[in-house]
Amino acid sequence: MTDQKYDFDLFVIGAGSGGVRSGRMAAQLGKRVGVAEESLPGGTCVVRGCVPKKFLVYGADYGASLEEAKGYGWSFGETSFDWPTLRDAIQKEVSRLSGIYSTILEKNGATVFRERAEFVDNHTVRLTKSGKLITAETILIAVGGRPWAPEIKGIEHAIVSDDSFTLDKLPERVLIIGGGYIACEFAGIYAGLGVKTVQAYRGGRLLNGFDAEVRDKVALVQENNGIDLKFNISPTEIKETQGGYIVTFDDGSKIGTDLVFMATGRKPHTSGLGLENAGVEVEDGGAVKVDKFSKTTADNIYAVGDVTNRMNLTPVAIREGMAFIETRYKDNPTAYDHEQIASAVFTRPPVGTVGLTEAQARKKHGDAVTVYSTKFRPMKNILSGDPQGVFMKLITKGDEETVIGVHLVGDHSGELIQILGICVKAGLTKADFDATCAVHPTISEEIVTLKPREINKTTVVS
Ligand code: NDP
Repeated sequence: MTDQKYDFDLFVIGAGSGGVRSGRMAAQLGKRVGVAEESLPGGTCVVRGCVPKKFLVYGADYGASLEEAKGYGWSFGETSFDWPTLRDAIQKEVSRLSGIYSTILEKNGATVFRERAEFVDNHTVRLTKSGKLITAETILIAVGGRPWAPEIKGIEHAIVSDDSFTLDKLPERVLIIGGGYIACEFAGIYAGLGVKTVQAYRGGRLLNGFDAEVRDKVALVQENNGIDLKFNISPTEIKETQGGYIVTFDDGSKIGTDLVFMATGRKPHTSGLGLENAGVEVEDGGAVKVDKFSKTTADNIYAVGDVTNRMNLTPVAIREGMAFIETRYKDNPTAYDHEQIASAVFTRPPVGTVGLTEAQARKKHGDAVTVYSTKFRPMKNILSGDPQGVFMKLITKGDEETVIGVHLVGDHSGELIQILGICVKAGLTKADFDATCAVHPTISEEIVTLKPREINKTTVVS
């Protein structure tokens, strides 16, 4: 049933991962769907996030591979890296993918408006370029997030991740501020592309919220890649000098660099959206308040993805969108389960993680927790001379030893953690892992032969 008094059954604001999936599925169900996008269709993931970032990681890895291949008997003439070649190839692919996102909506019958939409009331949006007013029975907010940086003196000299994909030239030196996903990944990228890289973090351990041992291993990973890590400092001022910048920190120290990259987090992109006109409330920090079915404080308005600041990952936005479709259009109220979601940080080598950290597990299950772990040098690195190792950690609970957390640092961790995520989600036990025959010789075989780590079980590792 559609209500013809509105222009559309569903109007989606934002053609990123969550918005496109929701819009396409609603259109496939015969709903009249409109989608507004102020930038390129595809959103953060496709245009200025996961996709171009992963290409940069691959690009950075090739440099190291050329060096490592020498241990396997290869020799090369002079090698060099050309930033514009990689940058332009990535942008070409981004354009192609963005086109697919747009086409996929249109092919399914949705109407795409390439302009910004803002709320007039809870059933009406205004397209800001054309001034057109559009009404819809249901509106989905899927506008994502944007990089955020503190308002320190000289902040206008810094770039954020959005800017990093289209730089005219690579700097000789970069200073990355932050210790999270983006800071760690981009430090690895720049170092791999031959840029002298400093990563400065206000805390004492990178990757806040991750398992403590993973955090320590990631510091080693960064150092092995030649990244100069500075801990417990925050920038207070960026000053332009001839040909570069001097950044002053709160401990009085100064670092000279050619490029300042602020990777200090992201914020929901709700400012100026007119949410107050539609009765949509936001949390402190701007995230749209939603219930477990992604419904906002306005009955006919839903929100999915980073704009809700639940778990800011592309596949999560997609799943939230699919749950919204079930709830709104299939008479099947569905709350997406945000537990035990596997994710990867594409440092070089990467991190893979799913389930509880050791500290979380001990807080929740006390002495019922057993930790299994190993660290080793992968076979490939023995001949190549690559100093990077592999770390694996498995956390179980109870006598049945259900696996409740897996944490990896090392080659292929991003791939492995997807499969291990299935095991954790399925509630498999350590005995199930042990009953599985190893695939030899691989890195992953170690996960089915792990031995308990000897520690004082009451120690809470933060
Ligand atoms: P994060 O929240 O991961 O990291 C932000 C970093 O900035 C933290 O180290 C934080 O410190 C620091 N910081 C915050 N405020 C300040 C300040 N005022 N001065 C100095 N440092 C500060 O954000 P990101 O932008 O890196 O990533 C955003 C989200 O995007 C991630 O949480 C993730 O969900 C998603 N993402 C996922 C990726 C993946 O799946 N591979 C890749 C990239 C992003 P502190 O730790 O002390 O708070």
